[in-house]
Amino acid sequence: MPRRIYVTRAVFEEALIELRREAQVEMSPDDRPLSKAEVIERLRDVDGAMTMLTDPIDREVLTACPRLKITSNVAVGHNNIDAPAATELGVMATNTPGVLTDTTADFAWVLLMAAARRVVEGDVFTRAGKWKSWSPTMFLGRDVHGKTLGILGLGRIGQAVARRAAGFNMKVIFHNPRAVADSIVRGLQAQPVSFEEVLQTSDFISLHVPLSAATTHLLDARAFAMMKLTCIIVNTARGPVVDEKALVEALKNKQIAGAGLDVFENEPEVEPELLRMDNVVLAPHIGSGSYETRLKMCMMAAANLIAWLRGQRPPNLVNPEVWNRRRD
Ligand code: NAP
Repeated sequence: MPRRIYVTRAVFEEALIELRREAQVEMSPDDRPLSKAEVIERLRDVDGAMTMLTDPIDREVLTACPRLKITSNVAVGHNNIDAPAATELGVMATNTPGVLTDTTADFAWVLLMAAARRVVEGDVFTRAGKWKSWSPTMFLGRDVHGKTLGILGLGRIGQAVARRAAGFNMKVIFHNPRAVADSIVRGLQAQPVSFEEVLQTSDFISLHVPLSAATTHLLDARAFAMMKLTCIIVNTARGPVVDEKALVEALKNKQIAGAGLDVFENEPEVEPELLRMDNVVLAPHIGSGSYETRLKMCMMAAANLIAWLRGQRPPNLVNPEVWNRRRD
């Protein structure tokens, strides 16, 4: 009997061509997030799934789908999957690291530049026909070149963001719990500092940590209080890394100058006050959203499933223990 794979969102058909040769593949007919009940209903009788960050693959789902052996997430972040529960229940989880690094780093810069130079405000103003003449003091932003960029999380995307800073002649400082290889730090001309020093001395702070218990509300009221009044924060990591209510307060109280946000605590909901703030640039979680990269992510997610279908170790296992146990 052919094995069954369910794809929880409508993805590029070209990413599924090879997968369809190896298994019976069914794809959600529409592009909307599934409720937990729908996820259970659709994954109950399949062997593998291609899942998205909008799918809650928690213990309840995994327990309700005992046939499921692998969940292949179309994302590098896998906070939507309860990895310890998956490991315990013998379900492999995979992700798509690397292929989205540069695209997401580009987007962090899009947000940084847009917030610093008030691009969106200027666009709205111009479209509204309010622009009557050049003015020496109109829409003044903040320089980016020559400033200090603080990076929290110097992994793949954090490093790619740091590389781009060289072109702006910036000082790059970072905080990362584990030491980053000397050769990488030297190549980036970046300086490791404490978390507090990133907060206190950066003109721009860009977040590139995975979401975990340790990084939830990494930026909270206490953190905002330590930042420069001119600081702009950029979040392309995950929404809950920032305490969104504390961010609203910090912006309202002018404790920091602005924010560029691609991700939110309760997506797709956004703190209503953020929607009314001019010094905030908002994007609907499109950090990795270029045509080329999303296709690569889907191809990689398919490749993870294909490897498993062929009896091989999926290349991007998040919980390799499951595979190792299987081989024992
Ligand atoms: P990565 O290579 O694993 O890098 C994450 C880095 O964060 C690691 O160096 C890690 O250090 C560090 N880190 C962990 N906890 C930290 C903390 N408390 N303080 C400072 N640094 C910490 O992952 P990546 O590929 O760069 O992706 C990073 C995240 O970006 C993903 O997890 C995902 O959530 C998000 N993302 C978002 C989008 C989007 O569309 N907006 C696209 C892609 C990725 P250690 O090695 O010491 O643990």
